[in-house]
Amino acid sequence: MLEIKNLDVHFGVIHALKGVSLTVNDGDIVTLIGANGAGKTTTLRTASGLKKPTNGEILLDGKNITHVSAQERVRMGISHVPEGRRIFPTMTVLENLELGAYLRRDKDGIAKDLKMVYERFPILSDRKKQAAGTLSGGEQQMLAIGRALMSRPKILFLDEPSMGLAPLLVQEIFNIIKDINSSGTTILLVEQNASMALQIADYAYVIETGSIVLSGTGLELMQSEDIKKAYLGG
Ligand code: ATP
Repeated sequence: MLEIKNLDVHFGVIHALKGVSLTVNDGDIVTLIGANGAGKTTTLRTASGLKKPTNGEILLDGKNITHVSAQERVRMGISHVPEGRRIFPTMTVLENLELGAYLRRDKDGIAKDLKMVYERFPILSDRKKQAAGTLSGGEQQMLAIGRALMSRPKILFLDEPSMGLAPLLVQEIFNIIKDINSSGTTILLVEQNASMALQIADYAYVIETGSIVLSGTGLELMQSEDIKKAYLGG
């Protein structure tokens, strides 16, 4: 579904991505793991059109979208849950969710998807009139994911969804990710929590200082001695 080919990204003189290539097959959960500053966020932001690459190509369903705007990529089926959630704190939960559907005009479809989001996250339904900034960290992550689902994506990008959450909530968020994937949405997941990410991933890539250094199934990487030492605490 998504193909990233030889992507180079610069921030001024900083060469943040150095020929990154990765593939996400339809229906899979693919994870990109790596340390702080390795280039995970930059990869997602470039794939969703928020940052321009200096070289390389991005294909969605075989179509070259490298020069397509971020907005058009949303229309084409990419939805991005950014690092740090980026919900709109003074707007209500419902208004945040409605913004996720701002490119859509199919009122009935939007209402159906809002119902689906409320069923998936009952707490958002209970809090729909509350300012989003008053939600807990875990609830804000649910809102950010719910907002992204409101564009009815084919592929969902998730940037560090577990960041800053208590262990029980991390487990809940990963269960939610698996569940969204089972309902037919392809997922590209960026995580520092390698252990959790590899457990749910069909395929995984490891990025170090802007380059992919290893890839394999989640299981293969979990069993790799190098990965155990570098990313799994043993
Ligand atoms: P983290 O988990 O900390 O977000 P990451 O793997 O997502 O790390 P990126 O945020 O993609 O890493 O950063 C990759 C490299 O690009 C780093 O060296 C970072 O300092 C640099 N970088 C990222 N954004 C910018 C920016 N706006 N201006 C300058 N350098 C940047």
